[in-house]
Amino acid sequence: MSWTPSSWRDFPIKQQPTYPDRKALEEVEKELSSYPPLIFAGEARRLKEKLAAAGRGEAFLLQGGDCAESFSDFSAATIKNLFKLMLQMNMVLMYSTGKPVVKVGRIAGQFAKPRSSDFEEKDGVKLPSYRGDIINSIEFTEEARIPNPENMLKAYNQSAATLNLLRAFARGGLADLNKVHQWNLDFIKGNPLGQRYDELSDKIDHAMKFMAACGLTSKSLPQLHQTTLYTSHEALLLNYEQALTRKDSETGKWYDCSAHMLWIGDRTRDLNEAHIEYFRGIDNPIGCKVGPSMEEDELIELIDALNPENEEGRLNLIVRMGADKISDYFPPLLKKVKDAGKNVVWTIDPMHGNVEKSSTGFKTRDFANILSEVEQFFKIHKEMGTIAAGIHLEMTGNDVTECTGSTSCAITAEGLASRYHTQCDPRLNASQALELAFMISDTISD
Ligand code: PEP
Ligand code: MN
Repeated sequence: MSWTPSSWRDFPIKQQPTYPDRKALEEVEKELSSYPPLIFAGEARRLKEKLAAAGRGEAFLLQGGDCAESFSDFSAATIKNLFKLMLQMNMVLMYSTGKPVVKVGRIAGQFAKPRSSDFEEKDGVKLPSYRGDIINSIEFTEEARIPNPENMLKAYNQSAATLNLLRAFARGGLADLNKVHQWNLDFIKGNPLGQRYDELSDKIDHAMKFMAACGLTSKSLPQLHQTTLYTSHEALLLNYEQALTRKDSETGKWYDCSAHMLWIGDRTRDLNEAHIEYFRGIDNPIGCKVGPSMEEDELIELIDALNPENEEGRLNLIVRMGADKISDYFPPLLKKVKDAGKNVVWTIDPMHGNVEKSSTGFKTRDFANILSEVEQFFKIHKEMGTIAAGIHLEMTGNDVTECTGSTSCAITAEGLASRYHTQCDPRLNASQALELAFMISDTISD
């Protein structure tokens, strides 16, 4: 079956906007196709190697960021806080596992959102749903909800600026291991978790001093001074992804150059539809969400469609069943994949199966359920003799109140109102995310 960057257009597709002005859409697509790629194919290949290591249990994948990035909450501070939080979680996980942590942000392109309904209703008024800033706007007005193709250009520019800053942070000194104390975010410093992180930082400081005495300093060793943060997003809006799909001159293969890694959402992974068609032709490392409705045979067909060569590091399956379902639904799937000898990088997204409405009316997730799904995921792998390769989170480095619970900040249903800022789904705040990292590190070292 031949593939081109546009062959997805011949297939049925879900969760897409209907642009009222086709001509304006075509002009934007043309314009975007002439822009420089945001990533280089060689970087995507490097990430694939690292994911292959994670799939073999030689590294750990930490993927996280906003549910949806937004044009309004775009600032250096927000990017820096997420970067520092990833570094903190990296230290916690690396120190306990003794393995490298592959850091992948849901950032610099995470703008398009699948929705459970095409319409939203408020006080008797019904409007088309918000689909992410790359498509329409969140304000509850008729006008704001009209899909605007120009938003793709804005999303591209914001992604380029974000990536530029991330690359500067990664290479410019912020990630220097002599700065571990400085990554502790101000609002965590005072609580017991901040203290636990400080104790860990002291140990790393000690190790750094010892190494410096041996003549190994961060000036002489880039590994101690620099890091790499890869980017990823759900490639939902294929008009945008197609425009950034480029042929690599070194290998002749096609890459989606909008991010290092892309994934398919749980609602658009139908085998006979457009997203599978698009993804099978790009050579990036890719992910696919696996929710409770996935059938065993369907999963094998999906793996064969997306990774026919059974290449290591190519396919990340992101399990998102819910704390009350994972123990029933996941083990048979895992067994099937294991018995079939398929190379898969298994990670857990403990966010999307654990959504609930708080008594105070907020869409939220309870920390206890998030923890429970992660713990069960690790336990199931241990029993099956397979590898739990990492975690996929919706989180922010900012001090928000969107998920309830946790011992470090104990957010109540009433407390959610105080700083509930998300554009879409509730995120872990920095304190909750760090607590989760410590919990995983305790589970792994047990
Ligand atoms: C998401 O990751 O934001 C998302 C929508 O996930 P899922 O496809 O698993 O529902
Ligand atoms: Mn989400």
